[in-house]
Amino acid sequence: MKTVLVAGGAGFIGSHLCDVLIEQGHKVFCVDNFATGHTNHIVHLMKNKHFKLIKHDVTKPFEIKGQLDEIYHLASRASPIDYQKFPTSTALANSIGTYNLVKLALKKNATLLFASTSEAYGEPREHPQKESYWGNVNPVGIRSCYDESKRFGEALLMAYHREMHADIKIVRIFNTYGPRLRPGDGRVISNFIRQALLGEPITIYGDGKQTRSFCYVSDMVRGLMMMMESDYIGPKNLGNPKEFTILQLANLIKNITGSKSELVFKKLPEDDPTKRQPDISSARDLLGWKPDIELEEGLKSTIEWFKILPLINY
Ligand code: NAD
Ligand code: UDP
Repeated sequence: MKTVLVAGGAGFIGSHLCDVLIEQGHKVFCVDNFATGHTNHIVHLMKNKHFKLIKHDVTKPFEIKGQLDEIYHLASRASPIDYQKFPTSTALANSIGTYNLVKLALKKNATLLFASTSEAYGEPREHPQKESYWGNVNPVGIRSCYDESKRFGEALLMAYHREMHADIKIVRIFNTYGPRLRPGDGRVISNFIRQALLGEPITIYGDGKQTRSFCYVSDMVRGLMMMMESDYIGPKNLGNPKEFTILQLANLIKNITGSKSELVFKKLPEDDPTKRQPDISSARDLLGWKPDIELEEGLKSTIEWFKILPLINY
């Protein structure tokens, strides 16, 4: 039995990770300030004696009593519309939050895994993106609170590793979806499913020819845990390499839901990357990880989750 801290454990990916850790018999500290997380995601774990919720902002130092073996740092807003509304707390969660967590990891002799992002590649000039690509990021643009703070988080951890031998792991997560994405989250899959189910216009930003590669959450959680258990530091790409245009995604969601929603075209947000596809050969060859869930199958279970929710205010 390990003792594991999941920062951001009440969020979308974090709560699925807490589920698997508890299922495997580990003790879990879930640290979350509920910026975007929700008690709905963890309520079923609250009676478990091995699960402890700590309401706390990781940008403020904190202590955990006793042993700690592993720390997952997932505590950051992740939806562009949302992090652009709260740029300072987002930048701080990935910088000062990472600093506080690496200090905790050093003190406890624990391994820290940092959830970085495909955004670290910015508007990529290499396609698909390999970990060796340094990226093309606007350092002062509206996404920089997120992508540059993730890049800084990576750099800070490498510094702690080189100088203090901190046991760290860096993972670059590509667009991940599944049940517990909030309908009001603002990311593309949330928006399209909510709009399709409500019969509202489906909002395509730009011409919809930009691409993303979508990974189902159970595949992602398995990858995060395999990385944690490995000897690798990373950075390691985790994502599903099957690439779709946003128009293809909209039509797929329309077909699955049987929705009559029309597609409407809106202005493309500033600095919105035109393409994104992970090269996962390193995760596949070194960790033995690959995603199993096809987009259509994953969308079906995500849509079922959305159907049981109040779609407007959550
Ligand atoms: P999410 O918003 O559902 O989860 C983030 C969680 O962190 C929420 O519960 C939120 O309340 C909490 N949080 C935010 N700031 C905090 C702070 N300062 N202190 C404590 N808790 C805080 O998002 P998600 O999609 O589950 O993303 C989880 C992590 O994975 C994030 O770090 C994100 O940047 C990264 N990531 C996600 C994706 C994706 O497609 N989902 C892609 C790339 C990277
Ligand atoms: N997008 C869209 N309509 C929406 C929301 C997003 O066309 O209602 C597009 C967005 O412009 C981007 C892609 O979908 O090109 C993915 O956006 P998301 O916010 O999910 O995450 P990103 O990958 O940009 O971080």
